[in-house]
Amino acid sequence: MTYPSWKLREWAPDLPEGRIDNIYIHWSAHDYRAVFPAYHFCVALDDDGEIIVVNTHDVRENMRNVYEAPDEPYAAHTRKRNSFALGISVMGMQGSKPDDFGPYPLTPELIDALCLVAAKLASRYRVSVDAEHIMTHAEAALHDGYFGTEPQQRWDIARLQPDPRPLAPQDALDAGEELRSRIRRFS
Ligand SMILES: [Zn+2]
Repeated sequence: MTYPSWKLREWAPDLPEGRIDNIYIHWSAHDYRAVFPAYHFCVALDDDGEIIVVNTHDVRENMRNVYEAPDEPYAAHTRKRNSFALGISVMGMQGSKPDDFGPYPLTPELIDALCLVAAKLASRYRVSVDAEHIMTHAEAALHDGYFGTEPQQRWDIARLQPDPRPLAPQDALDAGEELRSRIRRFS
């Protein structure tokens, strides 16, 4: 499957009209190159190691209450929260733990790219850059009772760098605030 993709600096998607209320922010837990249609936009690296933005799912498919017709296609990025909601993700963090981000760690450049994508989407769909409307999967998991590092739990993006301290709910809230403040700088 080939998806539309752009170098980060040239990313100028033709975004359709419609209702989007929320944006959820993820990492993929795979390598830097594999992209996934569970998200609408993926921040990845190309074969030259340059940052690209890949449109892996049509945003129109989530401009509805997806749970009214769950057999129709949509991007299933965040449990129970996919209606009128975009999912964006940075590729990487395969094999990561809170104290060791593994062979594909988050980098400042990738995080900045993710925040730029979030800022452009928030502006296009008039989504407020606050903790109610733009949150990480880790924050959603915290609210919905599945935050953590077990296989059925989620902690993306509760840390921007590895830390030997045990993972705590406050990490998710702090990382979410840090990401939103970076998103505001691109707004
Ligand atoms: Zn996620």
